[in-house]
Amino acid sequence: MPLSATRKDPSPPSADVILSFDVEVWADGWGAIDEKIQSAFNRRIYGHSREHGAGLQGALRILAEHQLHAVFFVEPLFAARVGESYLSEIVELILRHGQEIQLHIHSEWAYELRTSQLASFEMPRRTRNIADLDVAAQDAVLKLAIELLGRAGAPRPIAFRAGSYAFRRSTLSVLAANGLQYDSSLNVSNTNSGTDLGDERRTRVAEIDQVIEVPIAQIVPSFGKPRQAQIGSSGLSELKHLIRLAARTGAGPTVIVSHNNEMTHRVTGVPDEFVLRRFRGLCQWLAANPQFRTTGFSELDPGAHIGRAVPELRNAHIANLLRNVEQYWRRRCYY
Ligand SMILES: [Zn+2]
Repeated sequence: MPLSATRKDPSPPSADVILSFDVEVWADGWGAIDEKIQSAFNRRIYGHSREHGAGLQGALRILAEHQLHAVFFVEPLFAARVGESYLSEIVELILRHGQEIQLHIHSEWAYELRTSQLASFEMPRRTRNIADLDVAAQDAVLKLAIELLGRAGAPRPIAFRAGSYAFRRSTLSVLAANGLQYDSSLNVSNTNSGTDLGDERRTRVAEIDQVIEVPIAQIVPSFGKPRQAQIGSSGLSELKHLIRLAARTGAGPTVIVSHNNEMTHRVTGVPDEFVLRRFRGLCQWLAANPQFRTTGFSELDPGAHIGRAVPELRNAHIANLLRNVEQYWRRRCYY
């Protein structure tokens, strides 16, 4: 008997992957919100059709087909302005598909509530960075968002991502005071993200001010700017390389970003076949490689991850090039 037949093959190196979707509703600008919200909502949540659309529902359908887990960071503040039934519909849709809901906040919506729920706070202008609000206002915004999610039927969130990745250190202690254990806002390639974290602004899972920061994985191309790992802007080959790298190096969870409308054309809502194919391809590959475990924050073991690096893909020249070519054709076809 050959020697190789007597030995068990070593199991391939494993990695945790967090597929994360920021779920947000905008009314195509800040004028005429009430007239525009229904069609904007339908386009962002269902795409161009409830049966075949590629909005939030489409992403949930593809994940279900491949039996993968994902985390949906849901933005609830918009509902305080336009109606809570919209938020309930989102929460019901995600929970019906067995996926995890966590908290996303776009402080731009907080400004819409300056004469109602948030009237007792200074809100001189609309801001993308939640930390532009003072700590008391950040606290009020967070409490309102958690309350809205709860009323819509979601379990209490334990993880947070700031809108546009824009937060500063003060946000983290507000999260901790409100029982949130994880933050996944830190995107080191974005200049508005965690700018005052000092030495702790790095791609490593770390406990900062009693919150566990789980930064977003990064792709550092041979040419061009570093960027977050994202379904809409990274290549399939880059994403596979990144996850393999995480497995090889024993990295912490590979957090990949997407949005509810990332697989649709932003104006018409028709499916963007390039991004759709990429997401399907990634799901098929993950399903075929169970050593890469799709997970969420609700089942993450912090003790196993604190101190671990978050993967940064460098020197993947061919994968970078393939992405550039694909994105070029995508823009030619859709924009
Ligand atoms: Zn967002």
